[in-house]
Amino acid sequence: MMEQNELLIDLTSIVKSEGMEIKVNKEYPIEVFSQYDDMPSLQTPVTLTGTITNHAGNLFLKGELSFTANFLCDRCLEPFDREYTLPMEDTIAREDSGLEADEFIPYQHNTVQLTEAIYKCIFAVTLDQQLCRKDCKGLCSVCGCNRNETTCNCDDTEIDPRLLKLKELLK
Ligand SMILES: [Zn+2]
Ligand SMILES: [Zn+2]
Repeated sequence: MMEQNELLIDLTSIVKSEGMEIKVNKEYPIEVFSQYDDMPSLQTPVTLTGTITNHAGNLFLKGELSFTANFLCDRCLEPFDREYTLPMEDTIAREDSGLEADEFIPYQHNTVQLTEAIYKCIFAVTLDQQLCRKDCKGLCSVCGCNRNETTCNCDDTEIDPRLLKLKELLK
């Protein structure tokens, strides 16, 4: 298990110097996110690249997350991998900055831990529609077959649920 401490970002060189910037290029192993139950199933580590800049005493992170995660297709329910590149922008400030808690990532002792903020960013994509492919045909609402793989002859235009039950009984 990787130490969370190894993922801390040292801000010492920029916290007191306006206009200064540091580059961020970090890889967050899959296991550091295992504490979050509703994280999509990561297939690769998460890479964060970007910069943290001191603007008028406030620190701004502007970066990009890349990772691949496994999802279940919303239409055919088959698992598939999807590659993501997500923008990540956040304000990093001292705990006592006076900002609202959800407006910034707090730092302490000139270091910041971004794991939680990255998790939030990635969790947001689980709310996207997930399709194994754009034209996924989904499951047949009558026989349940995967219509990407099989062609059935069901007529799923209008089925009265009561009729469906009757059909089941007659099988
Ligand atoms: Zn699908
Ligand atoms: Zn069918």
